[in-house]
Amino acid sequence: MSDVRVRFAPSPTGNVHIGNIRAAIFNWLYARHVGGKFLLRVEDTDLERSTPEAIQTLLACMEWLKLDYDEPVVYQTHNVQKHLAAAEKLLADGRAYKEDKGGKGECVIFRMPKEGRLEYTDLVKGRMKKKAEDTQDFVIVRSDGSPVFHLANVVDDIEQGITHVIRGDDHVENTFKHLELFKALGATPPQYAHLPMIVNNQGKPYSKRDGAAFVGEFREQGFLPEALFNFLLLLGWAPDDNTEVLTREEMIERFSLDRCKSSAARFDMKKLIWMNGEYIRRQPREVYGKEFLTRVREAGLSTEGVDIDGIVEQMQVRTKFYSEIPGNCTYFFTEDYPFDPKGVEKRLHGEGVPEILESVAEQYDALPAFDLQTTHDVIAAMAESKGVNMGVMIHPVRVAVSGVTEGPGLFEMLVLIGREKVCARLRTVAKRLREGTL
Ligand code: GLU
Repeated sequence: MSDVRVRFAPSPTGNVHIGNIRAAIFNWLYARHVGGKFLLRVEDTDLERSTPEAIQTLLACMEWLKLDYDEPVVYQTHNVQKHLAAAEKLLADGRAYKEDKGGKGECVIFRMPKEGRLEYTDLVKGRMKKKAEDTQDFVIVRSDGSPVFHLANVVDDIEQGITHVIRGDDHVENTFKHLELFKALGATPPQYAHLPMIVNNQGKPYSKRDGAAFVGEFREQGFLPEALFNFLLLLGWAPDDNTEVLTREEMIERFSLDRCKSSAARFDMKKLIWMNGEYIRRQPREVYGKEFLTRVREAGLSTEGVDIDGIVEQMQVRTKFYSEIPGNCTYFFTEDYPFDPKGVEKRLHGEGVPEILESVAEQYDALPAFDLQTTHDVIAAMAESKGVNMGVMIHPVRVAVSGVTEGPGLFEMLVLIGREKVCARLRTVAKRLREGTL
């Protein structure tokens, strides 16, 4: 156990940006690593955007990523009286003053120091400094009587006993203001850790224009929560070796703020896709198998008479998204499998292809046994006698029997499809090629 208390303090807008949820992940891991508390505070003061649906989206997103919190959710709007009381105290102490906004009433303004330097040590960015003369007094209560973010945020952090604030570095400038507010309110400030900006390939802040930016979008696209979690952790943190895929337990054990990076973190979609594939590959076989079967059946395909375990074994290691199932392996379940036009053009429209396919079919028919070795040897012998590379046979045969250029190793695939179907497909394709209908 430790006294550490951290919080995720999102402002619900209806969508949860990955930069925000990354902050949640870092806070959660830090709390779990040190045995402290992770709290959720909903900064819902923007009443137009913080609708019940927006809050629901946020909570669902936390649940999807298994970010559990240790105390009941605090809603910032419930604390307005406390924010206003703090403003009164600051006014009474001369740390704030009122300003007349004409007919619109008065707002409350916090006094910033006028000379010297403001400094603090950021747990990620190191020593941070700012000249007092470069800062300005700022509004803490609007003329309509509503507290401003800075005041509410600091008062709530005091109220909740927050010891560490881990958030995006778009808040660095605010931190100088927040530290003065803590001091003026007689409270010990938390330690701050500002996470690096997430940037696109051009080094600009990652935004909607760069692709999916909200957690919900990744969910819809079929990313696993575990993969997204792991990927976001690596946007600003790395373990002390080259490990990239970590279990939740390993993350908790290895996480530390001093391994957080201060340089911008590049969002690499290819890496996320790879990561997703890694997670799918590591799922227990039964879990993957269940998902696989459900999707095959949903597509209206029959699994009767197929070696489903063999297919699942082959496909698990090469599935990057569940949504690819069964589109990427329809050929295991139907004779009506689609042909990829590019694959056909590249692999089947060459000279002599129908002859190759027919010759393979004839030799496969004659084999005493149809297995990995025998199916391979036929093609190896053909290549040898023609004095060509095995690829000359392998590629057309693959596209002919599967319609696509990717998938399991050819011989594994052939054995799973079965001799009868393989030979029939090879002959059908040869015929269609001759007729010019493929
Ligand atoms: N509501 C603020 C945000 O979402 C909170 C920042 C903080 O963590 O202090 O940016």
